Amino acid sequence: MNTLPQAIQERIAQWLEAGEIEVFIGYERGPVPLRATPAFVRDPKEVGRLIWDATCENNLVAFLPKYRGKKVGILVKGCDSRAINGLIQEGQVQRANLKVIGVHCAGVVDPLQVARRLGVPVEALEQVGLEGELLRANGVTLPVAEVLYDLCKTCAQHNPVVADETIGSEIPDASRDEAFAHVREMEALSSDERWARFTQELERCNLCYACRNACPMCYCNVCFVDRTMPRWFNQTTTAEDIQFYQIMRTFHLAGRCVGCGACTRACPQGVNLRLLLDKLRLECLELFGYEAGINPQVEPPLRTYRQDDYNDFIMSD
Ligand code: SF4
Ligand code: SF4
Ligand code: SF4
Repeated sequence: MNTLPQAIQERIAQWLEAGEIEVFIGYERGPVPLRATPAFVRDPKEVGRLIWDATCENNLVAFLPKYRGKKVGILVKGCDSRAINGLIQEGQVQRANLKVIGVHCAGVVDPLQVARRLGVPVEALEQVGLEGELLRANGVTLPVAEVLYDLCKTCAQHNPVVADETIGSEIPDASRDEAFAHVREMEALSSDERWARFTQELERCNLCYACRNACPMCYCNVCFVDRTMPRWFNQTTTAEDIQFYQIMRTFHLAGRCVGCGACTRACPQGVNLRLLLDKLRLECLELFGYEAGINPQVEPPLRTYRQDDYNDFIMSD
């Protein structure tokens, strides 16, 4: 566990004391090994609770829509910071209301990978600790870089795109080829093989909605799955309903998903949602040259009318 650098703690305390923010959303040590927990600090004397290390996996931007119109401070990793731009574009937050600490992030630890390496269930992890680039658990020491989430191993957004203050220094990003290699692997399969992979992946989903709840861009007051007038969705765990939910959620995020991976990390069943979401992100990039959350001044494709739009996907008789 690493407390925030002294200068950053002082900055946050100044913002709180001066009333420039009413709350700072960061991380603190939690009860679960290798998982920091979100912290909401309102008292400048409590900034010492805040930490930053490779256990800080939540995308805290998911909390911002709950503070619409309020002045808030927040700590964001590179990938998370893109969601701030996404919410600004969609009118959910205003940049002037935010104070942002951006972290140059080398990656966050996947507790499941640690447990697998040690040959124990994740619940049996104990005596865990991080020391620089090493992780200790159950008396064994591992390099942190070997047990990062898959997304972090090919991260193309280590560095924040929005920040008033930063922690750390610039980290080289992976290339797009590396970042989308898993999508290319899926594209190389036949349509039957892709369908088999898709259905097999979703067999583990139990419709807990943790993915939706963790996503900074899933902020509808009433999600389509919960609407009853009209009812769009049966909420059973039949394969058809689960597939319908995942397809609809993915399309709701077309041109909006910033690729932070918070949904995949939140899934208790280990469903790799990136296979769906990153396909759409790559389509968006290749068809429209657009990457969500990079630049709030660039209009998203679904909000743009162009006479020379790419139209090959429109079915005609
Ligand atoms: S995707 Fe990149 S910025 Fe996000 S947690 Fe992983 S390494 Fe950090
Ligand atoms: S859908 Fe997943 S990867 Fe995309 S913005 Fe939401 S949480 Fe991040
Ligand atoms: S978090 Fe996982 S199990 Fe829960 S609804 Fe999402 S994909 Fe399904």
